[in-house]
Amino acid sequence: MAGMRMTVIGTGYLGATHAACMAELGHEVLGIDVDQTKIDALKAGKVPFFEPGLPEVLERNLANGRLCFTTDYKEAAEFANVHFIGVGTPQQRGSYAADTTYVEAAVDSLVPHLQGDHVIFGKSTVPVGTAQALQERANKLISASASLEIAWNPEFLREGYAVNDTITPDRIVLGVRSTNSTNSTETRAEEIAREVYATPLADGTPFIVTDLQTAELVKVSANAFLATKISFINAVSEVCEIVGADVTQLADAIGHDERIGRKFLGAGLGFGGGCLPKDIRAFMARAGELGADQALTFLREVDAINMRRRERVVDLSREILGSLIGRRITVLGAAFKPNSDDVRDSPALAVAGQLNLAGASVRVYDPEAMDNARRVFPTLDYADSLDDALADAELVILATEWDEFRQLDPEHAGQLVESKTLIDARNVLPVPAWHSAGWELHALGRSL
Ligand code: NAD
Repeated sequence: MAGMRMTVIGTGYLGATHAACMAELGHEVLGIDVDQTKIDALKAGKVPFFEPGLPEVLERNLANGRLCFTTDYKEAAEFANVHFIGVGTPQQRGSYAADTTYVEAAVDSLVPHLQGDHVIFGKSTVPVGTAQALQERANKLISASASLEIAWNPEFLREGYAVNDTITPDRIVLGVRSTNSTNSTETRAEEIAREVYATPLADGTPFIVTDLQTAELVKVSANAFLATKISFINAVSEVCEIVGADVTQLADAIGHDERIGRKFLGAGLGFGGGCLPKDIRAFMARAGELGADQALTFLREVDAINMRRRERVVDLSREILGSLIGRRITVLGAAFKPNSDDVRDSPALAVAGQLNLAGASVRVYDPEAMDNARRVFPTLDYADSLDDALADAELVILATEWDEFRQLDPEHAGQLVESKTLIDARNVLPVPAWHSAGWELHALGRSL
């Protein structure tokens, strides 16, 4: 099948990946962003963030001419009749609600330039009702000679696995306008989506076509469920700490029940990143606006449990060291999770920052997230290498479970530090090997 033409608006973690992967599937793609630096980097074949496999896909498709980038919305409107929106929807300042101004701005910038029949697929994570509101907004902006249908196609990619998740998603969800309308464009979005995703659909990827509001809710519900599962085990972890039980064995045991499953039952420092924390808050805020606030009050607890884990690591450090003032603490990890350089709401950086504020001398090392971390917390000391990070440490905290840290040789590490004391805040280290190398280990939810 011949490739289609499409634009991807917003070329951050989601949009740059989507643009490159759509080109990889054979489509002709134009990526648009308001950030000239980002567009220049992408044009030059440089992915402005760490995502395994994406640089190769980007370079390949720039070279074969299927992928281009611009900051010009007029060019975007003329390039294609199919547009994806993947701009950010961060938490609003001073509120739990999502900030939808970037999505609105994308519509405002594109729609007045449109001629002919167009479809916009929203991919950003948005509060329920946004797609409908955007359609009404667009209807006021569009010229008389053009038509536009807005559909919602939420994105489920995981940073670190984004290329694979985009090319072979585990499901495709599409929200379209109510089918009992008499509007003749009502099925265009579905038809077009079938063409866009022809390759994964031919491989049997489940395709769920629903209304706009269900599609919007699918995404936030999925993230709310994942956050709840992590906070569930972390709440149990708090009880384990009091009675001396072992939360990892407990998770293994309950995880064997296939109704529960072991995934996302890793007790530790909890979740962070640019999605889960802000998505559960936005979900609560939206439920409140809709008069269903009681339905989601449990998410407040999910959030609180998650944040308490960060405090627990700081408290545990204080318990181990006596006082934090002037003590040399090494935090391994700055990214919110391994295989990413994303430090948005990173538990590792939050712990490093709190220890620093409490007077400790904190040195941080991360294989990929150093530059981003420096921007957020310029006052921390950043090491050039793992060995450099460990040198003379009085306490080491494993805060992000990079393979490089999981595979750290405890004998070698022991020769670098001043005190062989470590908090495994992700419960990932092979305990016997570390014990036999003479380390004193501490963890969340179990005593070692
Ligand atoms: P991001 O901050 O990395 O990227 C957003 C991009 O949008 C930036 O490059 C920004 O310059 C650009 N932008 C802002 N306003 C614009 C405008 N008016 N026109 C064009 N570009 C504009 O954010 P992200 O992580 O890619 O997330 C984007 C959306 O995707 C969010 O709604 C997020 O919740 C959702 N999402 C993200 C992931 C993920 O893993 N990162 C996964 C699923 C869904």
